[in-house]
Amino acid sequence: MHTLQLILVALALPSLIFAHTIPRDAGHDHDETIRRALPSAWYQRDDHPAHALFKRQQASSTFTYPQVGTPAWSAGFPQSTPDSSQLPTAWVNALNAAVAAGKIPNIPPTTLVNGSPTYPQGTNGGDPSVCSGTYGCRIPGDIWDAPTGVLATGFDDGPIGQFSPGLYTFLSQNNIPATHFMIGVNILNNAAAFQQAFSAGQDIAVHTYTHPYMTTLSNLDVLAQIGWTMELIHNSTGGKLPAFWRPPYGDSDVRTRAIAVEVFGLTTIIWNHDTNDWNFGNAGVSAQSIQSAMTGWLTGPKTPGLIILEHELNQGAVNAFEAAYPLMISNGWNLVSAAQILNGHSWMNGTDNGGVLPVAATPTTSSTSTSSTAAPSSSSATRSGANGAASSSASHKSGASTTKLPGWTVYSGLFTVLLGLFSAGAVLF
Ligand SMILES: [Zn+2]
Repeated sequence: MHTLQLILVALALPSLIFAHTIPRDAGHDHDETIRRALPSAWYQRDDHPAHALFKRQQASSTFTYPQVGTPAWSAGFPQSTPDSSQLPTAWVNALNAAVAAGKIPNIPPTTLVNGSPTYPQGTNGGDPSVCSGTYGCRIPGDIWDAPTGVLATGFDDGPIGQFSPGLYTFLSQNNIPATHFMIGVNILNNAAAFQQAFSAGQDIAVHTYTHPYMTTLSNLDVLAQIGWTMELIHNSTGGKLPAFWRPPYGDSDVRTRAIAVEVFGLTTIIWNHDTNDWNFGNAGVSAQSIQSAMTGWLTGPKTPGLIILEHELNQGAVNAFEAAYPLMISNGWNLVSAAQILNGHSWMNGTDNGGVLPVAATPTTSSTSTSSTAAPSSSSATRSGANGAASSSASHKSGASTTKLPGWTVYSGLFTVLLGLFSAGAVLF
């Protein structure tokens, strides 16, 4: 099997380079070309059913979207928290169909108690039937870890006009692929930075429209927060539909996550390390504290790989990433974007979510296992919504033992076989 894989890889790689090289990548070295060229794009396939929800303006083949950044463009979207009583019918119908099919668990929303999402009496956020990220529970199929040796890079809360452009330039200059979990209203208010990220080939993912705690929302409000962000990105990228989202504060449960995947086809990416860089300059978060934490992770075990929560929300956070970058290289990490963790499997197999690494549910720690009103295992800090700091209350630290990605080997083997078949087809035809 091992030899067969090697042969198939050898067969597949030349045709991949030939078939998928994108013009804007011209000039990159071969490794970069291969990495970028693998079908692991941040956006969904053209034939993904979720596209049907965003085709309303495309009845005419000559339709063109308003130019990004113009008043006509901005006027097409909510200017603040979207009104869930004014949603496109197609979205509501898709949600209702998913509910009727039993695909959206009936979990009550949380309310914020002392800043923390808290379920009503009788509902335990740490129970697998609810599985809130805030309560330290990992939903199978969501991504919290990277494969061994892989550092998956992502930045939250952009684009921000003062800070993002410099970061994007640094990423481009160093050929660093990264996934940018963007906030809808920040795209609206920082159109030039958004276009810079897109034209530079950076990944764009959904971080909701105004950055709420998602578990506090009704189904329709979840629909509005995700749907409008996808619409905004779709209409501003010539029709590319994001494939990944990250709930603000890591706050998602089986209900909100199901709406994301069942209605919109989104895979959830969380993180396994947190720099607290959103709070740079406060609470002891400094260039030194971040570099110290980074050094520990980057020189530590390679299993599981790293998904580090970082932000493009302030200059200190951007500088901290740039300062840590040499350590990422010198310690031999394979840098990919967060969206590239799946390595194209979902793209290849034609299913919505089939490529997601199977992550076993992590039993909650004893501190949250019995009380129906157990507090999240890490307190959420100050937050200021879409334009401000995002706290990071997801208690990844309580995620104790990490799963060894049992399906990864199987998937990579299958992927290799598919590549081989693809290559053989290219040779024969
Ligand atoms: Zn955020």
